[in-house]
Amino acid sequence: MNDRGIVAVVGAGTMGRGIAQVAATAGFTVLLYDARPEAVTAALERIEASLQRARERGRLAQAPEEVLGRIRPVADLAGLASAGWVIEAVPEELELKRRLLAELGAENPRAVLASNTSTLSITALARGVPGPERVLGLHFFNPAPRMPLVEVIPGVETHPEVLGRAVAFVRELGKEPVVAKDRPGFIVNRIARPYYGEALVLAGDGVPFATIDRILRGLGFPMGPFELMDLIGLDVNFAATKSVWEQSFYLSRYRPHPLQAERVAAGWLGQKTGRGFYAYPREPEPEPELPEPHPLAVHLVGGGPLAGILASRLAPTAPEEADLIVDLRVSLGEKAYPEGVPPGRPVLTLAWAHSASLARPRYPEARGVYGFSLVPPYAAGQPMELLAPEGEEVPPWLAGFARALGFTPVVLPDQPGGVAFRILAMLANEAFSALREGLAEAETLDRAMELGTRYPRGPLAWAELFGLPALVAGLRGLKDELGEERYRPDPLLVRRAAVGE
Ligand code: NAD
Repeated sequence: MNDRGIVAVVGAGTMGRGIAQVAATAGFTVLLYDARPEAVTAALERIEASLQRARERGRLAQAPEEVLGRIRPVADLAGLASAGWVIEAVPEELELKRRLLAELGAENPRAVLASNTSTLSITALARGVPGPERVLGLHFFNPAPRMPLVEVIPGVETHPEVLGRAVAFVRELGKEPVVAKDRPGFIVNRIARPYYGEALVLAGDGVPFATIDRILRGLGFPMGPFELMDLIGLDVNFAATKSVWEQSFYLSRYRPHPLQAERVAAGWLGQKTGRGFYAYPREPEPEPELPEPHPLAVHLVGGGPLAGILASRLAPTAPEEADLIVDLRVSLGEKAYPEGVPPGRPVLTLAWAHSASLARPRYPEARGVYGFSLVPPYAAGQPMELLAPEGEEVPPWLAGFARALGFTPVVLPDQPGGVAFRILAMLANEAFSALREGLAEAETLDRAMELGTRYPRGPLAWAELFGLPALVAGLRGLKDELGEERYRPDPLLVRRAAVGE
């Protein structure tokens, strides 16, 4: 492979060594600098091991030594003057990065200066750099050699020609560029906030970490939020959360949670310290015991895609013969015991917009009112969350009924929405707010989320599966019952739902 040019990487930690490996693999000469020379030595060892692994697994066409031979340790910033591209990956501190970029700009008057920042403002970082028009964000994901996405972020002064060259450069690195606006967290780290934040709120309200993780994994997420935070590092995740929150002038939906702060204070930073939300090595979880399937004659109330799915798995029953009423209407105000069903039947009501406790008084004729939450795509085996009003318990026959429908019952403490609905609705809502603010086009936002996070589908595509009006009704109910501004449905989501898009 021909030499394609010179890339300087500053900071040889987790991200810097990954970026160096990516650039050298793509044929660039790489100058690697770190304030601690031993970090460069350690990085070269880890890159070598990583290249060897890639080679063994058939992911690397070149000899590892050939790639490694393109990486040159450099002892000071002056040694980077020949580079056409400089990428900094030093710790996520505004002043540190700003000072470093200014120094790099002075040493090298020509190079494009890129920051791998996860959340900091590119415009703020460019301030004081000689030639701020050549500063931009190139946000790689961890592990850089494996993750296909790079967010490319222009600041207000970035020259359009520099942006265009950067997009082409990312493609030369073998990555997929997505141009994002310079807003806190850009696309991926912003839209992903609720995956952690809402999970933390649920955990703070008494839902066990392992239950939340199991539900999200049951939907096809590669990792649940707590095991993922343990992998990322609680300190790193907490810093990203705080940074987005502070830069958005303390919007409540980005607020960090005491459960994070407490662990960070204790030094429980996740896998790397042997303890985070879980202790490591992690004990294998006992598989929850599942009850026998318990089919029931059901009278379904309400429509939507879920009605079709449930009807296909149930023998439809005349109202007077029903053992159970299943109410699929979303808003609390619409809920009522259906006409034609004799009084005294139990009710299982969709709880996206409220808890089981709030639903209870809507059905005075019922003998027992329970809540359930299921989310699209409603695939067989997915978790079906079950709730009972305060002071009551979910009866075993109800868990058996969930199994008869082909779902996996999970009993939760009573709260509105359930785990999956709350997290997915908040991800979708955040994606609509990013869309409204013009961070990128809809397809780009979803693509960035799939590539940058490995979510099973993009949040906007997921919103369509819910149906936008149902999502709005659910979020409004959460806002009413929980009394928190964070659940306000985004105005763009509300408008699109109103016009039936
Ligand atoms: P890290 O702590 O692993 O590495 C940082 C390196 O920078 C260290 O080796 C340190 O010695 C070096 N350093 C510190 N000050 C320096 C200076 N003045 N000059 C040169 N080197 C210096 O950090 P990381 O996880 O690689 O993160 C680096 C950047 O990448 C941060 O901005 C972070 O937000 C971002 N990022 C991290 C991830 C991730 O998952 N770790 C993902 C995407 C982006």
